[in-house]
Amino acid sequence: MNTVYIGLGANLNAPEAQLRNALDALSKSQELTLAQVSSFYASKPMGPQDQPDYVNAVAKLTTQLSAIDVLDLLQQIELQHGRVRKAERWGPRTLDLDILLYNDAQIATQRLTVPHYGLCEREFVVFPLLEIAPKLTLPGGQALADIAASLPHNGLTAI
Ligand code: ATP
Ligand code: CA
Ligand code: CA
Ligand code: CA
Ligand code: CA
Repeated sequence: MNTVYIGLGANLNAPEAQLRNALDALSKSQELTLAQVSSFYASKPMGPQDQPDYVNAVAKLTTQLSAIDVLDLLQQIELQHGRVRKAERWGPRTLDLDILLYNDAQIATQRLTVPHYGLCEREFVVFPLLEIAPKLTLPGGQALADIAASLPHNGLTAI
């Protein structure tokens, strides 16, 4: 069995409901078990500021799927939840599902980078992840708690 941590984010069309619906879809998938979910957090957008605040959460999944098959499944769920891929980087979206960690794997392919490249710098990922996995160590050997200790909250608040 494989352990996968994913990040969820939304800032359009009732973002909390988007996250709840996504979690529902994840738990209903035959191929995944939804093991744990963090609180929902309100966060400031990255990049373009002319968009609403985000709602973010982190979830722990267990699965027999490979990492790339998990990505396919997550992208399928994004599309089912009305995500439209646009050219603007970090623009507003109804739902974003990122793979943060897949076991202790380090993956660098065109479609998939694991651990997620933004993991250590993004407060809306680090703090929700710390909530559900306080003792987590990253594949490089770094303790998540140490990363969190020196990361600004940047207005992140549990909802
Ligand atoms: P960011 O990647 O900075 O969080 P984003 O989530 O808005 O930005 P997307 O448009 O959702 O970016 O994804 C672009 C591509 O990133 C996807 O098509 C996917 O192939 C690739 N990708 C690479 N690594 C990952 C990962 N760990 N999780 C999800 N997608 C990934
Ligand atoms: Ca399931
Ligand atoms: Ca814009
Ligand atoms: Ca993302
Ligand atoms: Ca993404």
